Amino acid sequence: MELRLYDTLSREKRTFVPLDAKNVRMYVCGPTVYDFAHIGNARPVIVFDVLFRLLRHIYGEAHVKYVRNITDVDDKINDRAARDFPGLPLNEAIRKVTEQTGKQFHADVDALGALRPSVEPRATEHIGEMREIIERLIKGGFAYAAEDHVLFSPQAMNAANSTLPRYGALSKRSLDEMIAGARVDVAPYKKDSTDFVLWKPSKPGEPSWPSPAGIKTEGRPGWHIECSAMAWKHLGEQFDIHGGGIDLVFPHHENEVAQTCCAFHQQRMANYWMHNGFLQVESEKMSKSLGNFVTIRELLVDWPGEVLRLNMLKTHYTSPIDWTMKSLEESARTLNDWYRFAADVAPSKPGTSVVDALLDDLNTPQAIAALHGLRNASDAAGLSASLRLLGFLSESAAQWQGRKQQASGIDAAEIERLIAERTAARARKDFRESDRIRDELAAKGVVIKDGKDADGKPVTTWELA
Ligand code: AMP
Ligand code: ZN
Repeated sequence: MELRLYDTLSREKRTFVPLDAKNVRMYVCGPTVYDFAHIGNARPVIVFDVLFRLLRHIYGEAHVKYVRNITDVDDKINDRAARDFPGLPLNEAIRKVTEQTGKQFHADVDALGALRPSVEPRATEHIGEMREIIERLIKGGFAYAAEDHVLFSPQAMNAANSTLPRYGALSKRSLDEMIAGARVDVAPYKKDSTDFVLWKPSKPGEPSWPSPAGIKTEGRPGWHIECSAMAWKHLGEQFDIHGGGIDLVFPHHENEVAQTCCAFHQQRMANYWMHNGFLQVESEKMSKSLGNFVTIRELLVDWPGEVLRLNMLKTHYTSPIDWTMKSLEESARTLNDWYRFAADVAPSKPGTSVVDALLDDLNTPQAIAALHGLRNASDAAGLSASLRLLGFLSESAAQWQGRKQQASGIDAAEIERLIAERTAARARKDFRESDRIRDELAAKGVVIKDGKDADGKPVTTWELA
């Protein structure tokens, strides 16, 4: 079985040759845990889950290690904590936010049929590794301390006469052009406009750790160093595949390569760089201001996770994807048919047409066409095995059917109407009425939660108990 993968660095599809076939290693940048994940965030989760499953199929379950981190040091987390738990000390509030959001994320991606990665490291548990890499970079002349910050110098990297990669190679940017195009208001502690932060001082009350580089005050890591540290700890100085969304190529991944290669004096961090394209909703960029921002959790109210999964895989992972209601309905119809036909049938072996499509740079649209082929050829056992390889058929046909009936018993518009009535009752301080509506919703199996939206306005969300 020859797997071919498109590599962002070399800009070509290459045969995948692992460094060690007994220990195939993949790192994917995970979520920053401060809020519900949106459906765009689900794309790398699903795409790299399919790759994880394929690698396990080829090399054996025990021989693939998949690391997806959790970023739990971030300004957005701090802001959220201060807003949602104003009465608590900030560090405690931050723990609450990251714990709660981490749990929500797990529940969501479990529902999408994604296997848990082999390791899910948290940034806050790898501060020691980050300090160690920073010390190495300073020693090597690639980084320097200034005004309680530590900065990485891409210019020092490119000036080094060595076997290091060139800064800018991954994102195909020229450092000279970056210098020329730099903004004028560069932070005073930077020697050069292109220098980026490895470590910075914490503001009072913010999480802080002892600093590297002899800096006396405590501080916290920059974002990029987190992934270099976690990848190093769990996968070593060099590994096979590094993945994430296309938006991460620059600066995040470019900077990860710079840090890791300079710290460990090597030509490569990962041998294959894979990036999923972006998801937009009904032909528009998803954004809160356009009102088309949709979380995984909201979609799961109306659709089984496997429908979302199939819908995501209908587009090749490198292409942009347009997320539409029409396509979701079609995905649901397809899965209903496949469940009826194959879910209760003992699997044989995944169809070669399906596997071959996946081996060609995860060509999932082609794989789905091959699934339709098995269905048309009435190969229920082959379809059953193929769907399982792709992470489908976690339920029996009866469970799937039962869930559909349950889902159709719920009228989302009616629930939204009751919630609006309750909000109005609360606004006029009629708590008897608002409690009555809450009970009415509870009787329908609907649990409501009062919280705040990104702008601090109160919002009520709901889910099925
Ligand atoms: P974030 O929490 O924003 O760092 O994103 C987590 C992951 O989701 C990263 O791999 C992002 O590249 C990816 N991602 C974010 N938004 C989208 C989107 N609209 N479409 C596809 N991937 C996305
Ligand atoms: Zn990362």
